[in-house]
Amino acid sequence: MAGADCSDALDRLFEYIDEELPEEEVQRIGAHLKSCPPCEAEHQIKEKIKALTARTGGEKAPEELRIRVLESLRAVRQDG
Ligand SMILES: [Zn+2]
Repeated sequence: MAGADCSDALDRLFEYIDEELPEEEVQRIGAHLKSCPPCEAEHQIKEKIKALTARTGGEKAPEELRIRVLESLRAVRQDG
């Protein structure tokens, strides 16, 4: 099998963003994200959440924040 599938990629997204994966896995997940818009969208959401929580010093993303990020992305898509 050449690359990761969706559940594979989504399972590893947080580790991928946190750079906790071995190089080989990073390549695999990265390749999948490039070829799979839904997973790439999820990746963007999680990166935004991570950036926001890092900035506020939060330990983990509260559900409210996740919802806010999702809503802002949805708003962007509707504008386009
Ligand atoms: Zn996918």
